[in-house]
Amino acid sequence: MAIYLDYAATTPVDTRVAEKMIAYLTTDGVFGNPASSSHQFGRDASRAIEEARDNVARLIGANPKEIIWTSGATESNNLAIKGCALFNQKKGKHIITSKTEHKAVLDTCAFLAREGFEISYIDPDKNGVITADAVRSLLRDNTILVSVMYVNNETGIINEIDKIGQLTRERGIVFHVDAAQATGKLPINVQRSNIDIMSLTAHKIYGPKGIGALFICRKPRVRLQAQIHGGGHERGFRSGTLPTHQIVGMGEAYRIAKEELEKGTIHTQQLSQRLWDGIKLLPVSINGANAPRVENVLNVRFDNVGSVETGMLVQALEEQGLAVSAGSACISASFEPSYVLTAMGFDREQAANSIRFSFGRMTTTQEVDEAIRIISDAVHQLQK
Ligand SMILES: *Cc1c(COP(=O)(O)O)cnc(C)c1O
Repeated sequence: MAIYLDYAATTPVDTRVAEKMIAYLTTDGVFGNPASSSHQFGRDASRAIEEARDNVARLIGANPKEIIWTSGATESNNLAIKGCALFNQKKGKHIITSKTEHKAVLDTCAFLAREGFEISYIDPDKNGVITADAVRSLLRDNTILVSVMYVNNETGIINEIDKIGQLTRERGIVFHVDAAQATGKLPINVQRSNIDIMSLTAHKIYGPKGIGALFICRKPRVRLQAQIHGGGHERGFRSGTLPTHQIVGMGEAYRIAKEELEKGTIHTQQLSQRLWDGIKLLPVSINGANAPRVENVLNVRFDNVGSVETGMLVQALEEQGLAVSAGSACISASFEPSYVLTAMGFDREQAANSIRFSFGRMTTTQEVDEAIRIISDAVHQLQK
């Protein structure tokens, strides 16, 4: 069996979550359409959905009325950014985001740029952090939206969310946060952080793929233009029959995430430290070493390993049964050096020689020890 150290790309579904989901599919389960309020089948499904909504809201300090279901963080980012931009375009057409965002944000902003919006891209500071000062320096009178991710998916770096929230709230500018990599890893509170819209997903924290949510603040009230029409589900923000089993799975994953936040953090911290202790004598450094980071991601850069071409180390590790990622999963297919790392000031070769290890609930110390052996062998082999 190969060792999986790519939890930041996706996680397996927790068995407790899978067991719960199964009860919402078949004829002996709760299969009704949650919008069918005329009978018990529908009302049972609707009750399960509201319970899940409660669990999602609880993890982030929101009111359940502020949560709407989507198909994942990609859709949530699209709805948040396009929805906000299109609703507010008479007020202004300037948007601020960062160079280290996920493609779901960057490609959405590129689309809006073609539609006549102006986008400013924040550079990370010398440590790799997106700061409030950087946001402040780009603000204009016609800025309508600031979109900055909570935690970077490649490096695990935590951005200055609280400070940016304070700034945008003072100026009355909408603040959107992609929190796909932050939930279940950090204590999140949308009120404390003055976040207006926040994208969530299930499959990065032991829930199923294909389900996510968007937090939309009610006080102050945030207005968005819907991107999917038909039926008026989810208070008109997002139409479509709700996938009960998926939603129940997300709710259970978020409930467990809240319950096990501290335990999970300690677990991944120990694993990450163990891996680092096992490889630190190799020619290796941590990317983002001076930035605040989440514990479950360790992005490292190998130096002086001879002619390591883009993707060669990852490939060598894969052949030895270690599944990791070079940068994010979406770019590794095309073997382009990570744009996140180059934005942080690394050259293409440094970015190409970087690897993201990410740990999770099911990772064991034995797996980490085996990974250390595989990495050491592969690096020594390539050094020859
Ligand atoms: C995984 C991820 C996404 C995409 O989420 P999906 O639910 O897979 O669409 C968006 N942003 C970040 C930061 C991610 O890590």
